[in-house]
Amino acid sequence: MAGGGNAIRGSRVGAGPMGEAERGDAAPRQAVTYYCSHEHRSMVAFSIEAVVPESWDCPKCGLPASMDSENPPPAPKIEPYKTHLAYVKERRSDAEAAGILDEAVALLRSRRKSGDVVF
Ligand SMILES: [Zn+2]
Repeated sequence: MAGGGNAIRGSRVGAGPMGEAERGDAAPRQAVTYYCSHEHRSMVAFSIEAVVPESWDCPKCGLPASMDSENPPPAPKIEPYKTHLAYVKERRSDAEAAGILDEAVALLRSRRKSGDVVF
């Protein structure tokens, strides 16, 4: 860290008035895109010497964001609206509930039938 700062400061000292200082500022960077669970995309520029963190707080909503767009880190707080995953889970549980209901109805009917026979 301190070494990098010194290097930049050194290049600035040697920079002339022809925009060379600006070139020095823009040169050694890497842009990393982070995705949060709100589907915000945040481009963060790091020095090439910097260790890029695996997660970054989304500057738009403050949620943790990761570099994996398909698998953003889950929100630590309760979501004000449903995420895609919540919808998928809800659909799945609906299907399961429907299946359970079908079974229950079938069981009820078979009991009723057998009851008719026995009594
Ligand atoms: Zn966000």
